Amino acid sequence: MKAAVFHKPNEPLKVEEVENPKIYFHEILVKVAACGVCNTDLHYIDHGVPTFKKPPMILGHETSGIVQDVGAQVKEIKAGDHVLIPPVFSCGHCYNCRIGRENICLNMIMLGNNIDGAYAEYVKVPAKDCISLPDELPLEESCIIADAISTPYHAVKNRAQVRPGDSVVVLGCGGVGINVVQVAVAAGASVTAVDIKDDKLEMAKRLGAKNTINSSKKQDKAVITEIRKLTDGGADICIEAIGNPKTIEMGPTTLRPGGRYVQVGFSHQAAPLNAGRLMFREIEILGSLGCRPVDYPKIIEMIRLKRIQLEPVITHRFKLDDINKAFDLMRKGESLRSIIVM
Ligand SMILES: [Zn+2]
Ligand SMILES: [Zn+2]
Repeated sequence: MKAAVFHKPNEPLKVEEVENPKIYFHEILVKVAACGVCNTDLHYIDHGVPTFKKPPMILGHETSGIVQDVGAQVKEIKAGDHVLIPPVFSCGHCYNCRIGRENICLNMIMLGNNIDGAYAEYVKVPAKDCISLPDELPLEESCIIADAISTPYHAVKNRAQVRPGDSVVVLGCGGVGINVVQVAVAAGASVTAVDIKDDKLEMAKRLGAKNTINSSKKQDKAVITEIRKLTDGGADICIEAIGNPKTIEMGPTTLRPGGRYVQVGFSHQAAPLNAGRLMFREIEILGSLGCRPVDYPKIIEMIRLKRIQLEPVITHRFKLDDINKAFDLMRKGESLRSIIVM
């Protein structure tokens, strides 16, 4: 089969012929329909974050496709079914899995990191981790549910616990942040979206944000003042979706006393926090990672009801041969979400 292979950091992926994956009794073989291009891949390619599986390997963890073949023990899924493949597979028996927090499974296996991913014609995955996609959902576009939509959903619903009428500040409207905006709007929040690009802020508006702030030409202090003014003294909730030490430091200061700050963006750098301010104002600080399997059917229902939209946030489509063009666009910050269509 054809696959985009990651050979070493700081080198483009190489599209080449590799062997088809062979499935075990509990696995399924999926013909990839599309795979979303995620910033996480750039951490491996550009920023020296190592993959668990040593290269050469196949990246790609945001996948939808059609089941091609199933292992001997797979009963629930059959060839021809449309499936969504979550980015992370859980073990089902560790402490965190047992208490229903599979998204922080102690033995998690990430597609396109621990094992070969889906920038390829075929991918194999454990049947138990796959999620059925109803036929009325567009198969290719649905790939972004696996991370770009599910990660924001978990952050908004389970970690930030957004309630109708809450004021929510979203710092960063990129591939993940823009969906934090639309999921928070769907949850009934009054959203203030902050970014440095006008087109991303326009999209945030289109998806229901009440206020937008372009922070590119403003001092941090002015941005914080503006947010406090727009939210009548401070937001109930702030969600950081960039992973930039500057915005991480800013986040908790945008909140009212008793407010909640949720970290969704990844950074390997430390960011300072004002402990006195946290203490005096009883600010809550939470991390958010991925999404639990139990939430996927709810997300799919929200998309079916059109409360969460896929089409507007998919800005570019590429063939597998052109995958490096998708990464170039992402490096320039010019795409919201690109998908690779097989
Ligand atoms: Zn991702
Ligand atoms: Zn586990």
